[in-house]
Amino acid sequence: MLKMGDKVEMHTCWEADYYKDKVWTCTSDEFTSLSGEQVVFLGGFRGYFATKFLKLHEHEFKGREYSKLLGRWVTYCNKCGLIKED
Ligand SMILES: [Zn+2]
Repeated sequence: MLKMGDKVEMHTCWEADYYKDKVWTCTSDEFTSLSGEQVVFLGGFRGYFATKFLKLHEHEFKGREYSKLLGRWVTYCNKCGLIKED
């Protein structure tokens, strides 16, 4: 059951190829559409999306960059940009 605010990735659908490696944020909780499918709204995506083609995003902290803002080197998720706090 996806919840508003969850970070997800698409898989096994043509959109997954089109939006390769894009991380989406759910802007609603999962719900049942009129056609009976489990769906959820995604930020920046028009309409809702079938949850069977979504999986929860797992951070990949492979990025390494000097942050001028923080004044130190940081490790970040190379997919969604989240900074890992050491
Ligand atoms: Zn991430």
